[in-house]
Amino acid sequence: MSCETIDVGNGFAAIVCSRGARRARNACSIPGCDRKHSRLCDSKTRDDASTCDAKLCDRHAVSDGKDRDLCPAHAQHAVDVDGTLEASRFD
Ligand SMILES: [Zn+2]
Ligand SMILES: [Zn+2]
Repeated sequence: MSCETIDVGNGFAAIVCSRGARRARNACSIPGCDRKHSRLCDSKTRDDASTCDAKLCDRHAVSDGKDRDLCPAHAQHAVDVDGTLEASRFD
């Protein structure tokens, strides 16, 4: 089993471990999820220069209530900071 740490920005890191067959390149970024991704996390990274771009399937993408999708880590961060899924501060 091989593991790698993926920096998803805003101080969050995800550890992804894989066992056996390599996962498809276009698979969802969430560990253990093999669904094909259909969208990318739109949360800005700390330096505001790029977006998270975590690959997300329909099940793991979290809508911010507008027209953006967030990965679970960024959706949780938004809740921690604001109490609600309010992403206007990313504008
Ligand atoms: Zn998924
Ligand atoms: Zn993200």
